[in-house]
Amino acid sequence: MTEIRDTVILGSGCAGLTAAIYTARAGLNPLVLEGHEPGGQLSITTLVENFPGWPEGIQGPELIDNMKKQAARFGATYQLAHLHAVALDAHPFKLQTSAGEVHTRTLIIASGASARWLGLPSEQALIGHGVSSCATCDGFFFRGKEIAVVGGGDSAMEEALFLTRFATKVTVLHRRESFRASKIMLERAIAHPNIELRTNTIVEEVLGAEEKDVKGLRLRDVSSGLVDELKISGLFLGIGHVPNARMFAGQIDLDEEGYIRTRANVFTTHHGADVPGVYACGDVQDRRYRQAITAAGTGCMAALEVEKYLEEHAH
Ligand code: NAP
Repeated sequence: MTEIRDTVILGSGCAGLTAAIYTARAGLNPLVLEGHEPGGQLSITTLVENFPGWPEGIQGPELIDNMKKQAARFGATYQLAHLHAVALDAHPFKLQTSAGEVHTRTLIIASGASARWLGLPSEQALIGHGVSSCATCDGFFFRGKEIAVVGGGDSAMEEALFLTRFATKVTVLHRRESFRASKIMLERAIAHPNIELRTNTIVEEVLGAEEKDVKGLRLRDVSSGLVDELKISGLFLGIGHVPNARMFAGQIDLDEEGYIRTRANVFTTHHGADVPGVYACGDVQDRRYRQAITAAGTGCMAALEVEKYLEEHAH
């Protein structure tokens, strides 16, 4: 007989681990499925300076590790497993994972959103060594340097504007002629003396993989075909995020970009009606704030709703 869990938490980033702390402390012995990016986005960043309670800041991986230990102290267990399929119409819910089948009365979806990358091998090799997808996390390290931002939407403009606080010059590289960004954001970027916008430009290679330090970019102008090099010390990606919610399509409501739609922060729905016992928190349902502290906040809410649900459906 497969054991029936009180709650399973999908994802081990800030939202999932906060939900784990609360549900574990409530005696629910949560099982946390760690997924393909254990620790979530915080685990790939460096110094976190805006998480309350750490006046000197804390390294992202250390913060995650602390949360993990904190939940484990109250009985949370962890499993490195991928979710292959889920049946939310069965009660208890059935999860098919790479580590076997799991049955649970409640489910907290905290599977996050992954930054979209260009996918170049040189880019992947330099993540954390001058390549970043998070200006607010890593911009500080580029004080007095020249950097580039890829993207033509609001995120890229916002990142570029934010990064001018540190960098002496920010070059925005966009693959097309026209921008997707809103007029106001684009105008701000155009008006900024330290921002240069280059259109019809794609990154072919990030230079510096051997030195483990970004030295520049090899760029190609897609209209002229001309190739040149741009000397920079940092590359930021502002090309959007991909929510990790695809496996729930058809069982809970997703928005047009694939984020989980929630009612009252954490309640999931299907055709607009609540899906009892299934809650979503963190970046998989938040395309607006995307902060560690907001993810933790909704993780707490999801955990409290799980407790309430289990009390109301005495087991
Ligand atoms: P977005 O609007 O989808 O823009 C993504 C940009 O990245 C597009 O310009 C796209 O190019 C480019 N891109 C995508 N894949 C690429 C690739 N492989 N190589 C090169 N370029 C690539 O995403 P976003 O900027 O993250 O914005 C998401 C939502 O949040 C939007 O609704 C936005 O308005 C909102 N937002 C608002 C604010 C604000 O108002 N302050 C700030 C951030 C985000 P193409 O244009 O050629 O497709």
